[in-house]
Amino acid sequence: MSRKINGVKASGGIAIARAVLLGSSGLEQYIPDGHCADAASELARLAESIEKAKADLVAICARVAEEMGEEQADIFRAHLLFLEDPEMAGMVQQKIEGERLLAERALHEVAQELIRQFEQMDNAYMKERAADIRDVTNRVLAHLLGRPLDALTELREDVVLVAWDLSPSDTAQLDRRYVKGFVTDTGGPTSHSAIMARTLGIPAVVGTKQATSLIGSGTILILDGDEGVVICDPDEEELAFYRRKLAEQTTLKAELEGLVRQPSVSRDGHRVELGVNIGNPGDLAAAIANGAEGVGLFRTEFLYMGREDFPTEEEQLQSYKLVLEQMEDKPVVIRTLDIGGDKHLDYLSLPQEANPFLGHRAIRLCLDEQELFRTQLRALLRASVYGKLKILFPMIAAFEELQQAKGMLAEEKAALRKRGIPVSDDVEIGIMVEIPAAALMADMLADEVDFFSIGTNDLIQYTMAADRMNERVAHLYQPYHPAVLRLIYTVIQAAHAKGKWVGMCGEMAGDPVAIPILLGMGLDEFSMSAGSLLPARRQLLGLSREEAASRIETLLSMRTSQQVEEYIRRIYLQT
Ligand code: PEP
Ligand code: MG
Repeated sequence: MSRKINGVKASGGIAIARAVLLGSSGLEQYIPDGHCADAASELARLAESIEKAKADLVAICARVAEEMGEEQADIFRAHLLFLEDPEMAGMVQQKIEGERLLAERALHEVAQELIRQFEQMDNAYMKERAADIRDVTNRVLAHLLGRPLDALTELREDVVLVAWDLSPSDTAQLDRRYVKGFVTDTGGPTSHSAIMARTLGIPAVVGTKQATSLIGSGTILILDGDEGVVICDPDEEELAFYRRKLAEQTTLKAELEGLVRQPSVSRDGHRVELGVNIGNPGDLAAAIANGAEGVGLFRTEFLYMGREDFPTEEEQLQSYKLVLEQMEDKPVVIRTLDIGGDKHLDYLSLPQEANPFLGHRAIRLCLDEQELFRTQLRALLRASVYGKLKILFPMIAAFEELQQAKGMLAEEKAALRKRGIPVSDDVEIGIMVEIPAAALMADMLADEVDFFSIGTNDLIQYTMAADRMNERVAHLYQPYHPAVLRLIYTVIQAAHAKGKWVGMCGEMAGDPVAIPILLGMGLDEFSMSAGSLLPARRQLLGLSREEAASRIETLLSMRTSQQVEEYIRRIYLQT
């Protein structure tokens, strides 16, 4: 009899293979008991193991940067920083000197304490950073014990990995030829393992709570990443069903690969632009491989994160230049800093706020922290000569904010010119429409900009008054709510009436249910994560814009999000 284990969908796709159980989290069983006689030699052993772990991490960083991109490599850079932080080493030292613990035991106790602290945090992102501490301290522990971490490099046949969690180190070593999928006990959709799985395009189910206790090595598994289900010891009927599904997916993958260099045109010949959302220049490799026709959103806050001080004008210039040059003559929309809300900088202490998403974030903060903002504007202007730059201001709610931002940009441009530094004359200026006030004033704001980019991630939360991070109101976070659709339509019409173009860079732009609606409304540019680009292009090729447009009135007269979704699924998605 087959058994089903449910978990969280982390990365779509089907895998059918034998299970291999991983156990790198079990190193603690090898920690010797007893106390040390000589604290100095324990400290020396600790220091030596930390150095070896650092050397591992430097090598891993280089390999991951090349194979998976800079963003994934940043995880290991953060591990390196953690090992260089004297605080953790100081805590272990205290235990060795004060309690005469062996280095292994002292390190383990400190790690457990830190992991506990992170796991108790309210913020889901911080909670998941406990996995980083477990990973990096395990690496040091493995060196102290002289034991290997799991050898994932020695696989010789197709497998589905089963683990309590896959640490970033585990994932970095995965041999994609043989690892067809993985399932973990812990983790959520934003845990490292889930993000890595999506980056690598490996099907994954996480957060099953019990996979490692229910599955033995060698068990045949069907992993359905689309549904978040794992079937153990499947029967013939299940195997036949999923083999068919897997074959369909393989064909689809080949079909999608054939679309990489195709333009994004609807069935009735209407051309739109498919842009990509990036956080770092390193994300461009995947974007280009997936046929991006431009960068629709470069979230520059990621350049400011994971470091100890603000990036300088020169450092920013290099990143912007790299992106513009790599995209050649394709458009690149770079958004000015959007910090605050759920994104923080360790080195910029901001007062705690009761409602961070309604608080001092993005353009509001930049207009108050002028030097910070002007530095970024100068870097952008200097980069403008290397490609087709469009500057995007986030979180505009009021006219004055846009005028102030544009004023500062004009001042910086004049100052650069005066110094003889070249700046392009063709830089377009746009705003994110992500606050209902801006959507409702779009007709007026359109006079002041070259384009709009609709940020539905925020627009939905502000329209519905439903915090995008709060699971308890997740049922109200409704992309297809008629109020949200009416706002989007208002923005598109207002912009077109003034001859301006409109993009969307919220998650909704890559959503198969939203795409027919947005095409029908006349959206000009759809910007999304790299993995969504080719499925979106395939969908667009099959849609008629004229027909989609003829349904907009019906959609806008519906009362609920559910009605909208059912209608779209019935007409366009046959589900
Ligand atoms: C948005 O709000 O839709 C958006 C793209 O910005 P972010 O998700 O960075 O807030
Ligand atoms: Mg936003």
